[in-house]
Amino acid sequence: MGSPSSPRPAALPWNRSPAPFAELISVEAIAARVAELGAQLTADYAGKPDVVVIGVLKGSVIFLSDLVRHIALPCVLDFIGISSYGDASVSSGVVQITQDLSRPIEGKHVIVVEDIVDTGHTVAYLLENLATRRPASIKLCSLLHKPDRSEREVKIDYLGFTIPNKFVVGYGLDISQQYRNLPFIGFVQDP
Ligand code: 5GP
Repeated sequence: MGSPSSPRPAALPWNRSPAPFAELISVEAIAARVAELGAQLTADYAGKPDVVVIGVLKGSVIFLSDLVRHIALPCVLDFIGISSYGDASVSSGVVQITQDLSRPIEGKHVIVVEDIVDTGHTVAYLLENLATRRPASIKLCSLLHKPDRSEREVKIDYLGFTIPNKFVVGYGLDISQQYRNLPFIGFVQDP
């Protein structure tokens, strides 16, 4: 941590530039939509005790950290690690929990925060798994949805953006673990 007199870190132009990606959703559009989702969650969960916001590692981390700062209610954060077997870009539907929650969720009002619902296999598995732990309620909040790729019916209770069938990157989403720190959402352009 810097001393109080340290200058602010310099701007980082490299991760503000869409290159080598095309920009799909801008920093400003993300911020506006995340604020709306937070306001909606605040209204819907007002007065509910024991709200637990669960981030699905690692893709939801940037979204979750912005979102919870727009939820003007007491809530607890927890994280769960999930991985699909097989090729990272082709969801197999076979899912493994790589890191479990730190606390039980029995009797809690759970909001699962995901980066993207693509085929729907990952989140369908996760919601089924969490439901067996007897939460008071469970809702899904996903930043993105690619309906063209849907293979499993999944109810997204809170959705940021519907996107076309493109492999997207940034704002938490990766390509081979890189580019999660891009502040916008971009896609790889066809050559
Ligand atoms: P599913 O196909 O099971 O709905 O999606 C599984 C996971 O694949 C998502 O949580 C996400 O981590 C990853 N994924 C799906 N589509 C994309 C995409 O367009 N870009 C990136 N970076 N990851 C994706």
